[in-house]
Amino acid sequence: MTMQACTVGHLSAAPGTKTAGMIEIAIQGKPYTFPIFLINGTADGPTLVVTAGIHGAEYASIAAALDLGQHLQPDILHGRVIIVPVVNVPAFQARAIYVCPLDGINLNRVFPGKADGGATEQIADWVFQNVIKQADYYVDLHGGDLIEALVPFTIYPQTGNARVDDAALGLAKAFGIRYLVRSNAVSGSTIAAAAHAGIPAILTESGAQGLWSPEAVALHTNGLERLMRHLGMLTDTPLEPAPFTVIENFVWLRSEHTGFWYPNTAVDQVVQPGQDLGRVTDYQGNVLQTAQATVQGRILFLVSSLAINQGDPLCAIGA
Ligand SMILES: [Zn+2]
Repeated sequence: MTMQACTVGHLSAAPGTKTAGMIEIAIQGKPYTFPIFLINGTADGPTLVVTAGIHGAEYASIAAALDLGQHLQPDILHGRVIIVPVVNVPAFQARAIYVCPLDGINLNRVFPGKADGGATEQIADWVFQNVIKQADYYVDLHGGDLIEALVPFTIYPQTGNARVDDAALGLAKAFGIRYLVRSNAVSGSTIAAAAHAGIPAILTESGAQGLWSPEAVALHTNGLERLMRHLGMLTDTPLEPAPFTVIENFVWLRSEHTGFWYPNTAVDQVVQPGQDLGRVTDYQGNVLQTAQATVQGRILFLVSSLAINQGDPLCAIGA
């Protein structure tokens, strides 16, 4: 294989070099810019794409992507790493939870996007066609949003394509977060779209509630380093395999009403079927909904804001 330049949009990095800058595109005719690092190794190897800030207020993942972009040097790298630390810049600037403020759509529900769609669909389309599709392997970094407490976990999609599915599980194990959540890859998420395009992909969750502790950031950065060793992109001594627990069933409970949310559980708690996990009340305090566990499992994330809207997640149980 010949060594090639690593190019996204108008930015490029020759073999053995690194380029950092802003990609400038048009979304619905208006300028849209986002940061990118192109790190092109001195030896050949796979292309790894890393994105963060698909959700703009998941700060530990964004800080980790920026850290990797700043510190990974081409002279020790086999292959290429493309890093977008913040995809959803409008959400980051607005400190918006879940959605892109341009049109109120969740960017992680519309992949692979639409070139002639709404603003969020156009962002997804550009990033998918020009960044994610270059990947041999893809990692999308997330965490609990501003209003979510969370136990770190990794999601790996299963599509029925054994090569892609096995490789994704291998990435998830290598990354080294304890809980591995199996996903059926139908959600319009980044990693489902990548998996259906034949690209092994994982989504990692660490950090929560608007905080980016060194420990939460390190789970992402250490995980990426472990994963690059697993792929032969870094050739120093491989790390010991980390213990893991596979979660086959990921059950989300949602609010049926708009009002107040009083959780009666905590992240990392093991719950039983029928257990009271909290209540939703109206603005006078009358109980409208009692959230009950439908399965036995561990609370992996829990919404911590008093304000709750109809259709919002309340918590998720990993069974
Ligand atoms: Zn997210």
